[in-house]
Amino acid sequence: HGDFSQKIDYVFKIVLIGDSAVGKSQLLARFSRNEFSLDSKATIGVEFQTKTMVIDHKNVKAQIWDTAGQERYRAVTSAYYRGAVGAMLVYDITKRQSFDHIARWLEELRGHADNNIVIMLIGNKSDLDSTREVSTEDAKEFAEREGLFFMETSALEATNVEPAFLTILTEIYRTVS
Ligand code: GDP
Ligand code: MG
Repeated sequence: HGDFSQKIDYVFKIVLIGDSAVGKSQLLARFSRNEFSLDSKATIGVEFQTKTMVIDHKNVKAQIWDTAGQERYRAVTSAYYRGAVGAMLVYDITKRQSFDHIARWLEELRGHADNNIVIMLIGNKSDLDSTREVSTEDAKEFAEREGLFFMETSALEATNVEPAFLTILTEIYRTVS
């Protein structure tokens, strides 16, 4: 018997942004369905996935939006950011360029999103430590300077994926409750 009467206390929209191929879609697949694919196709069409978690005895539904393969500056439309209370800025720890672009994504985000949006910096593909191009310290320092939460994750190994989403959801919950 499913619990059809489950009451949802909060719905939080979270957007995923960052360069193409950093692992946004796989982070979402891992979090929402516990799935992972090594040959993921480029995302087609704006889509979101939901997952409900319990925070402070409340049912919090995360509605997580993934880009439609429009990972170029200004290609992501304001509709994508509308109503978002959280954002995950994702880079690939093995691609320096994807980290260098974070500042521009942040600028885009701050230009479109609500002022008190909770932002989390995510260094994905932590399983590929041997080919790392971005040190944890560099990223941590950047995050502190910009007032972002920060975590390194691996969608492949399912490392820190749930903790990352739980962190951002908990922070959002704190700002609205
Ligand atoms: P997106 O363009 O940001 O949505 O990136 P995708 O989720 O499509 O992932 C791009 C590629 O990186 C795919 O081949 C994924 O299988 C791979 N990938 C994603 N996350 C990880 C990870 O944590 N570790 C490794 N090794 N590969 C990953
Ligand atoms: Mg994608």
